[in-house]
Amino acid sequence: MRVFTTAAGLRCYLSKLRAGQHQAKEQDGTHSSCYPLDGSVGLVPTMGALHDGHLSLIRRARQENAWVVVSIFVNPLQFGPNEDFKTYPRQPIQDQQLCEQAGVDVVFAPTVEALYGHSNPLGKPDGEPNGLKQAGLAQTGLAQTGLAQTGLAQIGLTQVMPPAPMTSELCGQTRPGHFTGVATVVTKLFNIVQPDRAYFGQKDAQQVAILQKLVADLNLPIELRVCPIVREHDGLALSSRNQYLSPEQRAQATILNRGLRQAEQAFRAGGRLRQVLIEAVQAELETVPTVQPEYIELVHPETMLPLQQVEEAGLLAIAARIGSTRLIDNLVLRNRQPIVAIDGPAGAGKSTVVRQVAQVLGLLYLDTGAMYRAVTWLVLQSDLRVGDEAAIAELVSQCQIDISGNPAMTRVAINGQDITAAIRSPEITAQVSAVSALPTVRRELVKRQQDYGRRGGIVMDGRDIGTCVFPDAELKIFLTASVQERARRRQQDLKNQGQSEIALAELERAIYERDLKDSTRRIAPLRQAEDAIEIQSDHLTIDQVVAKIVALYHERVSRPGEAVSPILG
Ligand code: AMP
Repeated sequence: MRVFTTAAGLRCYLSKLRAGQHQAKEQDGTHSSCYPLDGSVGLVPTMGALHDGHLSLIRRARQENAWVVVSIFVNPLQFGPNEDFKTYPRQPIQDQQLCEQAGVDVVFAPTVEALYGHSNPLGKPDGEPNGLKQAGLAQTGLAQTGLAQTGLAQIGLTQVMPPAPMTSELCGQTRPGHFTGVATVVTKLFNIVQPDRAYFGQKDAQQVAILQKLVADLNLPIELRVCPIVREHDGLALSSRNQYLSPEQRAQATILNRGLRQAEQAFRAGGRLRQVLIEAVQAELETVPTVQPEYIELVHPETMLPLQQVEEAGLLAIAARIGSTRLIDNLVLRNRQPIVAIDGPAGAGKSTVVRQVAQVLGLLYLDTGAMYRAVTWLVLQSDLRVGDEAAIAELVSQCQIDISGNPAMTRVAINGQDITAAIRSPEITAQVSAVSALPTVRRELVKRQQDYGRRGGIVMDGRDIGTCVFPDAELKIFLTASVQERARRRQQDLKNQGQSEIALAELERAIYERDLKDSTRRIAPLRQAEDAIEIQSDHLTIDQVVAKIVALYHERVSRPGEAVSPILG
């Protein structure tokens, strides 16, 4: 693992990595063959004092990228003058050890001067950010105590200002300037590292929403990955600031999560109104008077605008003080039919299982294969070459695809034209793999699939449904079988089709290689989500697998007294 403290060092190192030097990594024994070998870079921005929450982001980045960069920087721009910039826990040695153990490739731990000092060419980098010095703020002590609020406008630094409606609610009310500080430092980190993907925690839900907007509005070529909140056994969300709590306060702090769970129960019982949900939290919080709520709010999870009731989804967010420590927590309430994601390696029986599960549960089977076929049909209709990805990108980004029907018969339309039968033609079958392999097509169709997911009530199979397409699916299944069993099934299938027999060993080798390719490819790699339930189907029939999934659905997802009805059909 390398540690850099300047953008110059880091940039130089990353440019060499990108120039194809991952071979060197394999030779020095640090590369595990299950990482993608595509040169992709994942960035995990942190302020250090790393805990399991940070490590969950690092693990995810480790799975999805050839190279993982963790930045550790306590950013003065996002702290107000009376906030804890000075006392924020700093434990660089321990952080580096944790990063090393987690398989991080590069730690970027700049000083304030290294990150902000050279942004103003008039100043001299002699210990204070130059802009600060020029603005005469160094003497006021703001450089040490945080700059949001009073200092920001004056320091001679180009800043990234998120839209006011997103920053005026929740934490923005008591932390003016905070999100401008966050957006500015994250933009700097994005520009320095130029990652393919960046990892953030749902713990900071407002930050995540603002950064999603920033990436979209500024067309940054970066995929944001949002990871679930990691909690202690008693429900307290992990936070570097938990270190400030005395044992007694630490015990009291669990009330935040308990409040959210009360609201969740009210939601499950049909409560959708702002007042009902907020009061459920409030009533619980009042049982511990030492915990002083700063806000309890219900907002739209993407726009951060206050909601009067949950229509599609609502973010219930809390900030509270315990002594001088400020803690935050949140919960997303989704008013949608559940989503079932079934991932797993090729040959584990997913495509048969998924249709049956959809039928039994009355969910829509979202046939992604049909979506790729529809796009292929459009490409061929438009006389485009499959190699002309740019032209295809233009076409696909503007088309409208409609999937409807039932699991036995999916109807497909593109730009209003029903092409259910046409997409099964031999020409489409011959071209669909090549079209699906285009990154732009995949990206666009994942977006469309997610749009279907907004309404829920779907079941979907693939390689990365539970990890990338629907990371918040209510039920995630990882359906697998041993290489030997899958080879045996394949041999049986070939026999049933009257084809000549292939030796088991040969089939096993082919399956093993396919698994490796699937799990290391850049687009839609095969991954088991951390919260997926694994079903090993070696000794199960298809009917038994279906029965297991249906039982899991009833046990964990469908709510008592709530009818599960198909969304389309
Ligand atoms: P911080 O060091 O507090 O700036 O956090 C760095 C990243 O880790 C942010 O994206 C946080 O949302 C994320 N993070 C912090 N705590 C947790 C947690 N308990 N669970 C998941 N992610 C977290």
